[in-house]
Amino acid sequence: MKQKKTHLVLSFAALAALAAFVTFVARTGYGQAQTEAQATAARPLALVPETRPASEPAAATKPATTTVEKDASLFAAAAARNTLLKYELSWAFGGKQQRGWYLYTPLISRMLETTGGEAAGDGFAAALSRWQKSSGLEPSGVLDGDTLYRMVGEWQGARLKHKAHARPEELLLAPVSDFYDPTRPEALRHVERETYAAYKRMLAAAAADPSLGLKLTAAGELAPEEKFFKIVSSFRSPEYQAQLRAQSPNSGRAGLAVNSPHFTGRALDLYVGGDPVETKDTNRALQVQTAAYRWLVQNADRFGFRPYYYEPWHWEYVGTATAANR
Ligand SMILES: [Zn+2]
Repeated sequence: MKQKKTHLVLSFAALAALAAFVTFVARTGYGQAQTEAQATAARPLALVPETRPASEPAAATKPATTTVEKDASLFAAAAARNTLLKYELSWAFGGKQQRGWYLYTPLISRMLETTGGEAAGDGFAAALSRWQKSSGLEPSGVLDGDTLYRMVGEWQGARLKHKAHARPEELLLAPVSDFYDPTRPEALRHVERETYAAYKRMLAAAAADPSLGLKLTAAGELAPEEKFFKIVSSFRSPEYQAQLRAQSPNSGRAGLAVNSPHFTGRALDLYVGGDPVETKDTNRALQVQTAAYRWLVQNADRFGFRPYYYEPWHWEYVGTATAANR
C-alpha cells in the first residue's frame, strides 16, 4: 500500500513536472530556443500598480516644457519604484514565474546607453523614459512589466534567424585548447566556420583588453588555465541533443530544445563564470557581475554575436552585416 501511494505521488509529481516544462524552454543546462512568440505571450501576474494613470497620453500635445524641477521629481519617484521593481517585479518567461529584472541590468543599460549598469538612479529613469517614448510606451521612467516585455521582445527578435542545421562542410574542428573542458572529445568540438573566425577575433580583442586581466600565453592567446571566454558547448547534432535529453529526463522535452540554435553550429556557450550553464537565479546573478560577461554585453555585437538574454553564456553569431544594420 505504501509503495502504491509513493508511486501515485511520484506519478503526480512527474505529471506536474511535465506540465511545468511543456512550455518552459529556458532551462538549466543546454537550453535556449525561447521563441519570441512565447516571450511576448507571457504576461505579468502581479504587477505593482503604476504611479501614473495608464490613461494619460504617452506623448503630451504640448511640448515637454514641464519644468526641470517637475522632471526631476518625476524621475526621483520613478527611481524609487525601480529600486523596488528591480528585485520585486513579478513577470513570466517560458511559462516560468520570474522575480525582478536585476539579472538583466547589463543588457538594459546597454540598450538605454546608460553607464554604471546598476539601473536604480534618476539618470537611469530619465534614460528609460526617453527609450520608452521612442518605443511608443508611456515615458514614465519606471521599468514595469510592459517595458520589460518590450525589451525582451527586442532581445529575442535580434537573435539568430538562420535555422538550417549545419552541413558537415560548414563545420570545422576547433582545438581542445578553445574549450572549457580540456578533455572535450573531437565529436563535440565542431563550430560553423564563420562563427569560429568571428569568435577568434572577439577573443583576440578580449585578450588585448587589460581591464579584463585575462591570463595569456606569450603569444597573447588565452592561457590554458584561463577559463573565461572558453567554449563550453558549440555545435550539437540533433542526435547528440536527443542523447542528452535521454540522459536528463528531468530537463523535460522542451528543456533540451528540440529545435536548438546549436544545430546550426552558430551558437556558442561561453564561460562567463559560476556554474557554466545553470539558469538558477543565484548562478546567473554571479555570472552577470563578471567582467567577462559585461565585456561581452558591450562588445560582442561588434563581432556579430547576439545574446540570449536569459542565459548569460549563450551567444549566437548573426554576422556583422546584420549586427551593423541595427
Ligand atoms: Zn547554448
